[in-house]
Amino acid sequence: MKRLAILDIGKLEIQEYCEEVKVKPNMVKVKVNACGVCGSDLSLLQGKRDLKNEHYFGHEFTGIVTEIGDGVTGLELGMRVTSELVKTCGQCWNCRNGSPNCCKSLNEVLFPGGFASETIVLHSDSYKYLSILPTSIDDIMGTLVEPTNCALRVVKRSKIQPGQSVLVIGLGSMGIIASQLLENFGAGKIIGMDKNKSRLETVKKSGLIDVINRNDLDWLEQLKNYTGTRGVDVVIEATGFPAAIGDAFLAARVGGLISVLSVYHGKANNLDILPIMRKELTIVGAKGPYPDQKSDDTSVTIGELQKIQEKLQKIIRIYDFKDSFKAFDDAIKGISIKSVISFKNM
Ligand SMILES: [Zn+2]
Ligand SMILES: [Zn+2]
Repeated sequence: MKRLAILDIGKLEIQEYCEEVKVKPNMVKVKVNACGVCGSDLSLLQGKRDLKNEHYFGHEFTGIVTEIGDGVTGLELGMRVTSELVKTCGQCWNCRNGSPNCCKSLNEVLFPGGFASETIVLHSDSYKYLSILPTSIDDIMGTLVEPTNCALRVVKRSKIQPGQSVLVIGLGSMGIIASQLLENFGAGKIIGMDKNKSRLETVKKSGLIDVINRNDLDWLEQLKNYTGTRGVDVVIEATGFPAAIGDAFLAARVGGLISVLSVYHGKANNLDILPIMRKELTIVGAKGPYPDQKSDDTSVTIGELQKIQEKLQKIIRIYDFKDSFKAFDDAIKGISIKSVISFKNM
């Protein structure tokens, strides 16, 4: 088995992993087909998150079930699956009090994670982390199920109403996926904003949404030209940078809502927070993934992804496993909005 590992800050290595990965009860083994690079993986590589606290690497993967432990129900050998939170314990305080998305840490769910040719995944009767992937979604697009689930969470938390204007700050994959879901949920004008030139150019070329360069001194004026002088109804904050919340305060209209899915590292100093009161802003956090299931027990996210997958093709770049370093590097530089590593040619 081969896996990608972080040796130190900024240092990736492809390792031959000899220790046998054993399937225990309530777990399955998945032969990985592809794994997406998440912003949180980049943070780990950049030393913004503590490596010592993480026991897995890669959580946006698709693959085939190759072994099934005792007690596992709902999956069969050979099934194509994707990582997605499907069911939580229902017993812990968070589950009992309306926050099933805060049930378990992924440290208890994945080993060694999706950046490996094989991974173990917890899939018990009381906690399921795999969705069955329909044939209409390929192995590469399937890696977007987990991030789409997280984007769906931020959209739902934004309580978008028909025709409302939206500013999406941060044009990484989360921001783009959220923008496409918002469109389907009835949003009016959707504007994206970022500082990264490559990302701005890619999104502009894609034609998915209009964009504003945050480095422009008149960015707020530009925004008002698009959405009216009162400000936007909803701001989606997806940058990971604390200062961006200050931009959200400026951009939101009186009574506006800010939905935050950013994984912040660091503190927000020198932030003008007066608009929270003056504008009576609503600020909500959105922590994905969330176990959203339809009444027939299928994934809400997969249904939503099927509607937007053609558009999302425009932001994906595929890399061979041997080019994993480049996949990460391009994502950090903004050359690639969504890097997906393929295990096909291993
Ligand atoms: Zn992710
Ligand atoms: Zn729980």
